[in-house]
Amino acid sequence: MKQISDLGTILGVWAHPDDEAYLSGGLMALARDAGSRVVCVTATHGERGTADPLRWPPDRLAAQRTTELRDCLDVLGVTEHHWLGYRDGECARVPSSGAVARLCDLIDEIRPDTVVTFGPDGQTGHPDHQAVGRWTAAAVDWAAPARTRLLQSAVTGDWARQWRIVNERFDVFAPGYPVTRRDNELSLRLSLDPGTLARKVKALTAQSTQTAGLIAAMGEDQYAAWVAEEAFTEGVPAPLVCERCWWDHENARWRCAGTPAASLR
Ligand SMILES: [Zn+2]
Repeated sequence: MKQISDLGTILGVWAHPDDEAYLSGGLMALARDAGSRVVCVTATHGERGTADPLRWPPDRLAAQRTTELRDCLDVLGVTEHHWLGYRDGECARVPSSGAVARLCDLIDEIRPDTVVTFGPDGQTGHPDHQAVGRWTAAAVDWAAPARTRLLQSAVTGDWARQWRIVNERFDVFAPGYPVTRRDNELSLRLSLDPGTLARKVKALTAQSTQTAGLIAAMGEDQYAAWVAEEAFTEGVPAPLVCERCWWDHENARWRCAGTPAASLR
């Protein structure tokens, strides 16, 4: 790829408000600036994303995060957004076939050239992220033309080493994560220019229920450096796997609890 516009129409599929901005805020802003269509899909309203559920009961937090996401996408120039409306924290329990069918409908309608989502590891190891990545790979396999690219967000080894102490301090990753990727495994790596980075930070700042504490603790400069890179591997559209399949991150392959010895991918 020589230019961002070569990605064509981009469909991003994410689990919670803020995933899209952390992992692809720069990509979306650059694509919109280049005149590309960008459509963003969010599976849940993130209504359980708080350490203070007394102050933020689910209904109130869902409403707040809906507003925050709209403001964030405004900053990035993204005008098209869809909710799937699943419950935060329960994506892995949603029947995959239903979620995949909804994504297939969106793919039919939008006809994306590039679909951007989580890899099988779910970036942070969050089960919602893993489920959304799985649904999306299946929907691309099912509904998208063969030329459609599937880009899966990745953590680079350099980044994980550079930010290890910060990531541990703020509990960014589930135990055993991240799964890191080598440079030669990446198909797209963006080091954001200062203007785009400032816009990404502004977009993330709009999601203050998720970012205000972190920005205050890290300081804005360090926070900006922390989100300055976006990296993706070329995903392989994957047929819908069964409800008992799980991602074995140590061996980087799908396994199925129904047939324990089998590795599906
Ligand atoms: Zn998330």
